[in-house]
Amino acid sequence: MSGMARWELWIDRTECIGSAVCVASAGAYFEMHGHQSRARASEIDADEHVIAVAQACPSGAIHVRVKETGELLEPQD
Ligand code: SF4
Repeated sequence: MSGMARWELWIDRTECIGSAVCVASAGAYFEMHGHQSRARASEIDADEHVIAVAQACPSGAIHVRVKETGELLEPQD
């Protein structure tokens, strides 16, 4: 391995219901923008906490993908 994996992070605005769960639990990554959340950065260092937050999102709006491989980590079926 050469360095930490990079992940792509985004909110699907057609799915976000504005619960702010993500902002409350991971304000370093998410911020409210009007009535919905958005990712502060579209690309981040791999962080399992983001997976947990994505799983806690009530609408499955948080998407996480491995930049190098394109593997979708969240949402899972
Ligand atoms: S937890 Fe999900 S539904 Fe709630 S604000 Fe964040 S992305 Fe939107």
